[in-house]
Amino acid sequence: MLQQVNGHSSGSDAQGRESLREDLQEFLGGEVPLHQLDDLTKVNPVTLETVLRCLQARYTADTFYTNAGCTLVALNPFKPVPQLYSPELMREYHAAPQPQKLKPHIFTVGEQTYRNVRSLIEPVNQSIVVSGESGAGKTWTSRCLMKFYAVVAASPTSWESHKIAERIEQRILNSNPVMEAFGNACTLRNNNSSRFGKFIQLQLNSLLVPRDHQMTGAAIQTYLLEKTRVACQDSTERNFHIFYQICKGASADERLQWHLPEGAAFSWLPNPERTLEEDCFEVTREAMLHLGIDAPTQNNIFQALAGLLHLGNIRFADSGDEAQPCRPMDDGAVRTSALLLRLPEDPLLETLRIRTIRAGRQQQVFRKPCSQAECDTRRDCLAKLVYARLFDWLVSVINSSVCADPASWTTFIGLLDVYGFESFPHNSLEQLCINYANEKLQQHFVAHYLRAQQEEYAVEGLEWSFVNYQDNQTCLDLIEGSPISICSLINEECRLNRPSSAAQLQTRIESALAGSPCLGHNKLSPEPSFVVLHYAGSVRYHTAGLVEKNKDPIPPELTRLLQQSQDTLLKVLFPADPEEKSQEEPSGQSRAPVLTVVSKFKASLEQLLQVLQATTPHYIRCIKPNSQGRAQALHREEVLNQLEACGLVETIHISAAGFPIRVSHRTFVERYASLRRLHPRAPPDPHSPSPDEGHSEGSPHAEQATLRALLQDILHTLPALEAATPAA
Ligand code: ATP
Ligand code: MG
Repeated sequence: MLQQVNGHSSGSDAQGRESLREDLQEFLGGEVPLHQLDDLTKVNPVTLETVLRCLQARYTADTFYTNAGCTLVALNPFKPVPQLYSPELMREYHAAPQPQKLKPHIFTVGEQTYRNVRSLIEPVNQSIVVSGESGAGKTWTSRCLMKFYAVVAASPTSWESHKIAERIEQRILNSNPVMEAFGNACTLRNNNSSRFGKFIQLQLNSLLVPRDHQMTGAAIQTYLLEKTRVACQDSTERNFHIFYQICKGASADERLQWHLPEGAAFSWLPNPERTLEEDCFEVTREAMLHLGIDAPTQNNIFQALAGLLHLGNIRFADSGDEAQPCRPMDDGAVRTSALLLRLPEDPLLETLRIRTIRAGRQQQVFRKPCSQAECDTRRDCLAKLVYARLFDWLVSVINSSVCADPASWTTFIGLLDVYGFESFPHNSLEQLCINYANEKLQQHFVAHYLRAQQEEYAVEGLEWSFVNYQDNQTCLDLIEGSPISICSLINEECRLNRPSSAAQLQTRIESALAGSPCLGHNKLSPEPSFVVLHYAGSVRYHTAGLVEKNKDPIPPELTRLLQQSQDTLLKVLFPADPEEKSQEEPSGQSRAPVLTVVSKFKASLEQLLQVLQATTPHYIRCIKPNSQGRAQALHREEVLNQLEACGLVETIHISAAGFPIRVSHRTFVERYASLRRLHPRAPPDPHSPSPDEGHSEGSPHAEQATLRALLQDILHTLPALEAATPAA
């Protein structure tokens, strides 16, 4: 409604009248072709089927963005559409008096958030939650939004400040290729799949140039890197991009230095023949340089990564005698990885093959040869440890390069790009955490939008018939609730540190949580597992290895070994302990309480939710039109599942029935009380059709007409009012 009136007041010329005519036609129920419906709230009736038909018609017409009330639906074009992301278009959205009158776009969301943080009325931090399944376009969307802010939030004031702004914006943009090289990988679902979650806070400054915010910095927070990928990849997938970049892009000298001859085979480098757009080593290096990671440091990083590739080639053979350690099948791999990681060779081999245990009253040290499987686990653990620390260190270096001084920024826009809901034939702790995060975000959406809005209507006594929506609190109670939940039971197993089989864990979960309606029936699964009925679908989680993964044990000997490295980078990643504490793995019950993967993840999620709750959220739902990544192909079933999973129809119902703009009464009065005084009601435009013509007082049309008139007043008066109000 407000939009339509706004359209009328924005111009008295022919174009303005034409736009008003279109608005009125739409408002009064005129037929608009499906592909021209910019907002799914205008689909009539709103059902999954009609929403799908509208999206399909738009997709066929190469229209990829559609509003759905408070949410923007983004269909992945799966083809380059450069004109859709040009700087000119960014500026057009930025300069538009009402960007929401332009075609739906991520730039509308970008501009809206940017205007909100600059608002004189209630400047609030903003957040954009980008969701969708793997390959739907979340990272692409976040990247485009970052580029948008880099263009619109650059300082226009002086060359000097422009230079500064440019540098920081460029640096922030440069964080993308680096984070993606180290944290993304080619999976079955997406050639450039993010294997970590990311929340980036774009910091804006209003101190120097009031009302024209500049981006002064950014802070990046990452979540749950899938570090197992470094040592264990599905045969159809790949390791993190960076390994392929090094192997393909190293110079002849570097190949010699890093022991990477052309065509060398590495067991941790599956599908090396597959070349992707993402394999560009030069782009990563260049971006690292911009972030202040100089060539010698880069050299250290790549050398260590080459060391990990050689580590992966170490194979062990059983000695046939329990008292004797396993034999390495290829001394060369041990030697080269020790050389590249700058570790002493013998201790490396010893650490991989022999476990040290403290036991007994005197805490005597025992040395126990590991089985072949244990040696493999220790080798993989070493690689994961190095890679995860390296990734965290990179994030901290990027942060120190882009993060602004706390005194130099006032507001932020947060961009959240987290892994979407996952359900594979085999699901483990990683999927449990990812789906748990999605449940939390869905709850945030439900609480913020669906529930809060309806509760507010009830409090204000507005006529409203409650729209049912799927509240996922029961599912969250099952996963994280207290005192007993899936997380608490898995953590309990870790704490007790007792041998327990996968079948026992299944029984414990199923009996302790039998009362939860979100625990599915575990029908005849050949493997021990349990089923959770998530808001986005049911997922079977296998219990084998779950407790061990949750413990994520790092044998202390491995850390100690890495502390002996002569490499400057590894010295930073593994600083020597200040005090020489107990050096050996304690046995049995004396173990200190373990900080499990689940408990760390839960804490970081709660922190994230706290930040989100203190912002005005905006939602972008990315939809993957087909799982093959083909342009112009929209598979009905696949899209229907995604629409259902995100509860889009409920969202549309509430948005369609609700009020598009909600300002608190107090703010409204404070802001607009002086309107009548400043500007008496504008006379009606003689060229425009009168909307209230022929309608009796009190009828819905008459009410709309009154509202129109009031809003028109406001719009006419706003410029004068803004000028009269001192900057906040
Ligand atoms: P994951 O959860 O696996 O990280 P994602 O949702 O982040 O997936 P993206 O990597 O953003 O998915 O997108 C997958 C691919 O789809 C991109 O690499 C790109 O090829 C294509 N794509 C996504 N959005 C667009 C777009 N707006 N225009 C053109 N291509 C796009
Ligand atoms: Mg991604």
